[in-house]
Amino acid sequence: MSTEGTCIFCRILRGEIPAQILERTEHAVAFADVNPQAPDHALVVPVRHVENLGAFVDAASAAEVHDLFALAAKIGARSPQGYRVVTNTGPHATQSVFHLHLHVLGGRQMTWPPG
Ligand code: AMP
Repeated sequence: MSTEGTCIFCRILRGEIPAQILERTEHAVAFADVNPQAPDHALVVPVRHVENLGAFVDAASAAEVHDLFALAAKIGARSPQGYRVVTNTGPHATQSVFHLHLHVLGGRQMTWPPG
């Protein structure tokens, strides 16, 4: 599990590696997923380095929680036919980056249940 120093998303937030930044607020940032799974696929991350949703809920202020979900809703609204918000936690969910991120997916018909 990465620390803040080596975490790829922290490095994006610090501008050390490139990403297509979509929006920033005080406590959250949205950027394009490098391997999109839908025509619209953004990641919305807290500025605070936390591993997953549970760690975020334990550590975050009300303002941080608000910013994360408000930004996800704002990015999702760019997909007028609807969108899906997903966060993967742990190996069964195939989490691969250990900095909390909300996938915001839209621009195509989704199916349910997810794979
Ligand atoms: P997860 O598997 O849920 O942890 O999702 C990690 C996501 O991060 C994947 O959808 C990757 O495509 C995405 N990702 C990994 N590295 C980058 C990067 N440098 N810029 C943008 N997205 C990335």
